[in-house]
Amino acid sequence: MNAPIRSYCRFGLAWVVISAGFIGCTTTNQPEIKPAMGEPKFTGLVIEQGPGSLGAEPRREKITLLILHHTAGSLASSLRTLQGRDPNHKVGVHFVVTDEVKPRVIRMVPEDMSAYHAGRGTWGSVTSLNQQSIGIEIINLDGNIHPYSEAQADILFALCADIIRRHDIKPWNVVAHSDVAIGRKIDPGTKFPWAKLASLGVGAWPWQMDVDNAVDRKVDLSPEYARRLLVSYGYGVEPGEAGLKECMTAFQRHFRPANINGVIDNESVIILEALLRRYHPAAYQALRVTP
Ligand SMILES: [Zn+2]
Repeated sequence: MNAPIRSYCRFGLAWVVISAGFIGCTTTNQPEIKPAMGEPKFTGLVIEQGPGSLGAEPRREKITLLILHHTAGSLASSLRTLQGRDPNHKVGVHFVVTDEVKPRVIRMVPEDMSAYHAGRGTWGSVTSLNQQSIGIEIINLDGNIHPYSEAQADILFALCADIIRRHDIKPWNVVAHSDVAIGRKIDPGTKFPWAKLASLGVGAWPWQMDVDNAVDRKVDLSPEYARRLLVSYGYGVEPGEAGLKECMTAFQRHFRPANINGVIDNESVIILEALLRRYHPAAYQALRVTP
């Protein structure tokens, strides 16, 4: 973590104010600190130390991913579960973002520990998700049904911006649990504000113009091509038609939430191509020349 610029205790809880260089969020009533020349506007991010979690172990690998979740439970029940006291349910997470009118960030596991929040799955070359990631649980009963409030998105942005800056996490490595645990998980859901966060510099989203310009173009809708696009972007696609459909569904849940059907259609392929052109141009070129 960054060096605290101020810390104090109240009601037995340690509160820490960490410095962060991110743009325009409104999450705190902490006094604003003047940014250095050329740096983005500074706004403070307050992180409350919550109850610790038993679902953690020493970090042995470099942090490369930021994985976002919804809790599917209330704040009280989620904090209880995430303490990982149930020996049959090994679970933990680094941060919880509350759903209160003024949302708070609660730390449960320090970043130098690996938390049990992602389980089985892959992303790109990463197979040990927990070891290589930081996890954020956002209080929402179901992010496929209930929208995230603007205040929640604001504080989440501030938290994510701080994490990705400190660990140099790439935009395409800010992912949904549903992206990395395909067929098992559907969080943080279709209501998650991916496009908004990406427009502020957190996570990936294709250039809209790039998608719009391609809309009338005939694209390759073969399963083989779709599979290669998904794999090149980072998705772990299981073999067979069913594996591909599940993966396409996960992709759509993140990048084409208006229509999640697992079908390889024009728009899905165009969005995938636009993502690759923006974030992995060399892989996209290689894919175009390889039959
Ligand atoms: Zn999850």
